[in-house]
Amino acid sequence: MLSDSHHYFHQAADVLGLSKEVRKIFLAPQRSVKVEINIESSEGGLKSYTGFRVQHNSSRGPMKGGLRYHPSMDEDHATALANLMTWKTAVVDVPFGGAKGGIDCDPHQMSKHDLNLVTRAFVTQMKDVIGPTRDIPAPDVNTNAEVMSWIMDEYSKYEGFSPAVVTGKPLELFGSEGREEATGRGVMNVLAEALSDQKKTFDEITVAIQGFGNVGSNAARLIAEQGATIIAVADHTGGVSKPEGLDIAALIQWVTANGGVKGFPDGEPFEGLDIITWQADVLIPAALEGAITEDNANEVKATIIVEGANAPTTPKAHEILIERGILVIPDILANAGGVTVSYFEWAQNIQHYRWEIDRINSELGKVMRKAYREVQAIAKEKDIDLRTAAFVLAIRRVGKAALYRHHIETEINFD
Ligand code: NAD
Repeated sequence: MLSDSHHYFHQAADVLGLSKEVRKIFLAPQRSVKVEINIESSEGGLKSYTGFRVQHNSSRGPMKGGLRYHPSMDEDHATALANLMTWKTAVVDVPFGGAKGGIDCDPHQMSKHDLNLVTRAFVTQMKDVIGPTRDIPAPDVNTNAEVMSWIMDEYSKYEGFSPAVVTGKPLELFGSEGREEATGRGVMNVLAEALSDQKKTFDEITVAIQGFGNVGSNAARLIAEQGATIIAVADHTGGVSKPEGLDIAALIQWVTANGGVKGFPDGEPFEGLDIITWQADVLIPAALEGAITEDNANEVKATIIVEGANAPTTPKAHEILIERGILVIPDILANAGGVTVSYFEWAQNIQHYRWEIDRINSELGKVMRKAYREVQAIAKEKDIDLRTAAFVLAIRRVGKAALYRHHIETEINFD
């Protein structure tokens, strides 16, 4: 995965003509912290875990990125995802750098008591490197608003009341309106821009979506509200389709009650993996990394792909899609709505003030549309795909900020 994000970085660095030395500086994380976490388990006995926080780049502000609790969590994974966060925050121009972290634990096998202890021990070990002006964690795989509340509480014991140390908190604990649906809303916003470029409207398109969790279900709901027909949805339990359009509100209710789309009565079941090659105008991968590969990229029927998930397309598949003339709206642009509203949450916490939902949604829309336009303009000017253009924009912003901050006499041109 690290090599995939590096691959896209190098493509953009080639466009900018960056030297080997400059690339090395950009790719290496500024700091990587590894800590041992030992707790006395509620089941009896001692348990040990390893926690990571990779802080990739802080040129444009405090570092920002999720905290993932998963047995496969390691430094390599955190480094790749921290890199992506640096570029993502720069593409949407929120004043953050990139970070990512996690603990190699499996919350599904742990008591809440142990999860709480592990989280608090992690904060105790990391308190000197995180903070509202240093590095601001957020939920990621297997972490949620409750875990963020514990982090805020533990950190506040050392530093005083500090809601801005994490985002993705519950509303009652200074979370933000609109955060829950922000990534799906951002997906809808960038799709609206792509459609308007193609002189199309939502009511004339069909959409297939992989993943019906936070990103997939909110994107489905908001895109359907605009008038599009969502004809197929798949998740880890299988797929369900309806050519006239699935009833998204009913499907959300079904998934909440049954844990997946399988068995939804108002649609035809299908083998989940077929979603990638579904006959639809738009495909939204919003589940897994590596969902579109060189094995299925040639069979994709959609003409627009909006990457709701992080890294759903392998570099080889991306090459095939671009050669086939498919418009790919890349993850670091398409799913940046989440980190954008996280920025709004942080800004509200710093101000000790609450924004109303209309303001959140309107400002998010502005940020996403502006980012899309800027990426699109670079793609046009340099005759490159949107992913490479997004990386060019991001590297330019991070690079110029770094140049202004440091006294560097070596001439480096980011234009
Ligand atoms: P989630 O856990 O809420 O939902 C994940 C969805 O993927 C579920 O519907 C699950 O059934 C489905 N899924 C899992 N395995 C699958 C499989 N083998 N085949 C098909 N579907 C499968 O997660 P989420 O928050 O919606 O995140 C989805 C993706 O979006 C991830 O890549 C995540 O990193 C990325 N992302 C999320 C946010 C956010 O704000 N939540 C922001 C940016 C990027």
